[in-house]
Amino acid sequence: MSWRERLAAFARSLVQRREMDQGKRPDRYTEEATCKRCGPVWLWFAGEVPGCPWCWNRVADKPIPRPHAVRCGDCIHFERIDHPHLGDCTKGEPEPAAGL
Ligand SMILES: [Zn+2]
Repeated sequence: MSWRERLAAFARSLVQRREMDQGKRPDRYTEEATCKRCGPVWLWFAGEVPGCPWCWNRVADKPIPRPHAVRCGDCIHFERIDHPHLGDCTKGEPEPAAGL
């Protein structure tokens, strides 16, 4: 690889990172994967990973595009109350009077 190609690849990765910072899924992220820390995410391969590029978004409180909607019950911010189907959002998301 010539230095020009390397530079072009580097520039592409920077553009991709900037798009990801804005919560945009890069074109080559076409597979549904599960990150142990983020939950369901888009990656360039399917499967379960201990960490992923979206972890940067998670720690920086930036949006993460999801392959399917995360239900409250699957969310790390969900705190079950003394009821089999209800709980509260520890992130303070709006919720019905009865809970989530
Ligand atoms: Zn992750």
